[in-house]
Amino acid sequence: MKKVVIVGGGWAGCAAALAARKAGSDVELFERTDMLLGTGLVGGIMRNNGRFTATEEMIAMGGGDLFKVCDNNSRHKNIEFPGHKHANLYDVSRIEPAVRKTLLDAGVNIHLKSRIKDIVGQNGKIMKVIADVYHSNEVIEATGDAFVDTAGTAGPQVNCMKYGNGCAMCIYRCPTFGPRFSIAAKAGVKEIIGQKADGTFGAMSGSCKLHKDSLAPDVREKLDRTGVCVIPVPSHLQKSMASLGQKACQQYALKEFAENIVLLDTGHAKLMSAYYPLDLLRQIPGCTNARFEDPYSGGIGNSMRYFGMLPRDNSLKVEGLQNVFCGGEKAGLLVGHTEAIVTGTLAGHNAARCAVGLSPIEIPQSLACGDAIAHVREKMQTKEGLTKKYTFSGSVYFESMKEKNLYTTDIQQINTRVQQANMTDFFAIPLAQPHLDAAATKKR
Ligand SMILES: Cc1cc2nc3c(=O)[nH]c(=O)nc-3n(C[C@H](O)[C@H](O)[C@H](O)COP(=O)(O)OP(=O)(O)OC[C@H]3O[C@@H](n4cnc5c(N)ncnc54)[C@H](O)[C@@H]3O)c2cc1C
Repeated sequence: MKKVVIVGGGWAGCAAALAARKAGSDVELFERTDMLLGTGLVGGIMRNNGRFTATEEMIAMGGGDLFKVCDNNSRHKNIEFPGHKHANLYDVSRIEPAVRKTLLDAGVNIHLKSRIKDIVGQNGKIMKVIADVYHSNEVIEATGDAFVDTAGTAGPQVNCMKYGNGCAMCIYRCPTFGPRFSIAAKAGVKEIIGQKADGTFGAMSGSCKLHKDSLAPDVREKLDRTGVCVIPVPSHLQKSMASLGQKACQQYALKEFAENIVLLDTGHAKLMSAYYPLDLLRQIPGCTNARFEDPYSGGIGNSMRYFGMLPRDNSLKVEGLQNVFCGGEKAGLLVGHTEAIVTGTLAGHNAARCAVGLSPIEIPQSLACGDAIAHVREKMQTKEGLTKKYTFSGSVYFESMKEKNLYTTDIQQINTRVQQANMTDFFAIPLAQPHLDAAATKKR
């Protein structure tokens, strides 16, 4: 059987692994830490705004397994918070084992604590990757027919020190497990660096987690019961609108997030506003004893992401390499778990196609998933486009999605669109092997 090797076990890598496996490949997935999901270990928001449409498209296309895992592990479903409708919040404490089981059940060979450190390749192809196994002298060498780079764009620590405010002991845990590494970059591809809204490089804020037990009882009760707690901030303590521009996720740069503390229950209390210094936060009702859980630098915590994206086409093949695909943040400025699962699925499926000698496919642009992949590629050709972030859930891409009539929550309509695009169950069906069934191969 042909083999696909995937580097990076975040949402994109997990999705790529499942898609390649379902397409019929042997799959080896390498993750440098002791857990899958990367930045997905600190997120949780799914199905908000246009992400609902993208999720249902993927389910209709047969690539919905990980979305179903998220739905099944949601603490709250169909909730609203400022600017966002019909969101689900998965439980960040329970999601990783559930995803790991899904991959193992599908037959994915997972290597944890195995950090890829080198490649062997020639003539625009990678043949082998080499991993150090944490705290041992063991080295794993994995040959493959096709590869997927889903190593993310956060860090390495040198960037956190150079552009940010130091290593924040974020979920990446580089001091323990070593820095991110891109196989495509090692093979000679020049990575693309994203910029902040003002065109400079540097730290962007993600969300932070607060210990729920450090919040007032009424706040905790509201979070547990409804999933959302919006606390008005006294005007003299309010953050400026400009500070919201520091958010990596621009869909939350709305005035409601400056005027209020917006907390979401993802198992922890997810604080949606950027950079809340602890002394300021503790002046806000309900938060007088607040304590940051993750990242440990809390109110000065940063998120050094988009430091290593890859040039790619709309099939997610990395430009300049014949057998390497990319997904998630590696594939460009698409932010989010949903976005990583969509691009990871396409990259994994196309890697499996490449391994058996089939041409890669693109998701048709009549679907939001295909349109977003093409949209971001186009925008990333311009200087201004590189200063923005794109997501199904808000900001510029959600606006574009609505203008093109791609946003809908009507599942029947989504299924019809997927059918009209000839994509129903596409990612669920194993590929025909060219040497076994030439006719079937031609058909697909
Ligand atoms: C604080 C925070 C909160 C967020 N909240 C949300 C949210 O609520 N909802 C949402 O949709 N999005 C959220 N996001 C964004 C979302 O998490 C990311 O856009 C998405 O999950 C990225 O997935 P990825 O797989 O591309 O990359 P990553 O999650 O970065 O995964 C990359 C993986 O590759 C591994 N890796 C790197 N180098 C190597 C190597 N050499 N060998 C082996 N493995 C390697 C890393 O350890 C990591 O696990 C949040 C992001 C942050 C930082």
